Amino acid sequence: MSKKSVTRRGFLLTSAAVAAGGALMPRGLWALGQDAVVDVPRSNNHIGYEKVAWKARPFPMEQVRLRPGLLKDMQERNRVYLYMLPNDRLLHSFRLTAGKPSRAEPLGGWEAPDCDLRGHLTGGHYLSACALMYASTGDESLRLKAEALVGALAECQQPDGYLGAYPSSMYDRMKKGVELPADQHWNGSTDHVWVPFYTYHKIMAGHLDMYTHCGSEAALHTATRMADWAIKWIELLSDEELDKVQRIEHGGMNEVMFNLYAITGEKKYLNGGLRFEHKRFFTPLAAHQDKLAGLHSNTNIPKVIGAARGYELTGDERYKDIAEYFWQTVVDHHTFAPGGTSNTNEGWSEPDTTGIHLGPGGQECCCSYNMLKLTRHLFGWKPDARWMDYYEHLLWNVRAGTQNENGRLMYYVPTIPGGWKTFDDPYESNLCCTGSGMEEYAKLVDTIYFQDEKSVYVNQFVASEVNWPEKRARLVQQTEFPEEGHTSIAIYAEKPVSFVLKVRDPHWAEGTAVSVNGRPEKAVKGSDGYLVIERIWKGGDRVEVNLPMALRQESVAGSPELATVAYGPLVLAACMGRNGLSRELIDAGQGPEMERLPAMPMPSFEARSETSKESKGTASWVKKTGEGELRFQTVGQAKETDLKPLYQVLDERYSVYWKKAHKA
Ligand SMILES: [Zn+2]
Repeated sequence: MSKKSVTRRGFLLTSAAVAAGGALMPRGLWALGQDAVVDVPRSNNHIGYEKVAWKARPFPMEQVRLRPGLLKDMQERNRVYLYMLPNDRLLHSFRLTAGKPSRAEPLGGWEAPDCDLRGHLTGGHYLSACALMYASTGDESLRLKAEALVGALAECQQPDGYLGAYPSSMYDRMKKGVELPADQHWNGSTDHVWVPFYTYHKIMAGHLDMYTHCGSEAALHTATRMADWAIKWIELLSDEELDKVQRIEHGGMNEVMFNLYAITGEKKYLNGGLRFEHKRFFTPLAAHQDKLAGLHSNTNIPKVIGAARGYELTGDERYKDIAEYFWQTVVDHHTFAPGGTSNTNEGWSEPDTTGIHLGPGGQECCCSYNMLKLTRHLFGWKPDARWMDYYEHLLWNVRAGTQNENGRLMYYVPTIPGGWKTFDDPYESNLCCTGSGMEEYAKLVDTIYFQDEKSVYVNQFVASEVNWPEKRARLVQQTEFPEEGHTSIAIYAEKPVSFVLKVRDPHWAEGTAVSVNGRPEKAVKGSDGYLVIERIWKGGDRVEVNLPMALRQESVAGSPELATVAYGPLVLAACMGRNGLSRELIDAGQGPEMERLPAMPMPSFEARSETSKESKGTASWVKKTGEGELRFQTVGQAKETDLKPLYQVLDERYSVYWKKAHKA
């Protein structure tokens, strides 16, 4: 398969062909979401339709604000991007499909008028991103822009409830199944189809986010009518036909149906979510069998988020088990060092084989986006630092640093030695990861703080503040993390108030130390991995947390000859120069074209004997250089190499994997 076919389209058709051959097998009432789409207060107050309440829940996003820092910069760049996309251009294909005139210049890439993914971003991700950005910043102009888009999209909705940027007849092709030979690619003919329900999910989710975060009743109305159309469409299918349809990417259709049930209480949406369950995918997971090899990654993770919602709304422990087993399996056996999952071709390989699948593709950004969403559910059920350690790892290694200084976004995070990051075009790419990326950088506030009745959880070390009206208190976190291993939390309160401050003690910290108002504090570490500081707080109290970072060598499951290096939460990359790299190669949004610039030899380091420090996890062959910035260098090697955190690598070639060179 050529490089150009390393795309969603290429993978889909290949995998579908193999599968066909049988070888693979409301403010007040609105607003409030367990996973940013769902209703927290209703569920946790047991007055909604949730059967399972989260033990800890996020603060509503509008109560959390970023303060100046790396994440605030990311948020602002993304906000600019959202304003760069005019509604008329976003609406173009929807209007033409509805038989309405449009003289707008069409967007390109995966939103081009002849691309069968059109609508996924313009009518879906974009609305989610605006809704999340409104919740994160209170940007009223952006809310109005998105509300206008909702109104114009409603004018394109068909009388039967269908809404899309291509005709509903495209769905009927799926009933036949996709039966292309592995080497034949989709050619735009009407005989084949890309991923209609994948797109439908995004459009429905965008509308639900507009309702959940912006109170748009119009958006909810559109979403319910869309759901009614989808339910009617699949009701007419036999189980055999449904199985064929579900071999084509359909993402979180179960999730969005469940979310609609959570909002409306209408059983038909609950049943819709159950009907959209992908049994072929869930059955092995429920049996604790890792059959992920060969499957597409990004389309399947949202199904598991759907399982999480199914558990919360029905209490069915099978769904919980599927979600937990899947998460653990992916994290333990299918994850690259920086935290991303999926290999070249967007799919999974056999367990513990990431080390032999280092390539220009892989670590698709959508997968990281979706794994973060799933992780929040698992944390909500059982708050524990290990979920938030993982969240932090993805946040700083494959979410930070996948948006460049111009706000441009990435598709894959390459792992091939000498690979480089590539960034999309604001108008001509419109990849799946452009869409999930614009959501990601709009919701950066949503996991920093969680709460229960008596505690606030400080999950992430991010310059930010949170208002806690129930306690008439406000917490302000100041930090330059991860450029420093330290954070400080100031408490503002009208009068003394009692609550428990729980601060995550990260797995990488070498002796976390806490002080309150300048005095060392013996914070007890709970079994959940959080440091507990319980007292009556007064306005002006200040908590300082020191989080010492150290260099660490990490092993690669299944590839004992390889290693990676981390500093605290940060995966370090070997800097391999800019030789041969051009702006054109960097601006090629679909991943590095290695045939134009070949890979480089993997950097190596001299491993000492098995009893040395290296085998115990320290990395004495790397040292930190300089005081103020995160710069590193190898020590005692034949050729010394510079390293820096992967998130700071933007326009140079790199490798995060190292080969152990043994002395002869
Ligand atoms: Zn993607």
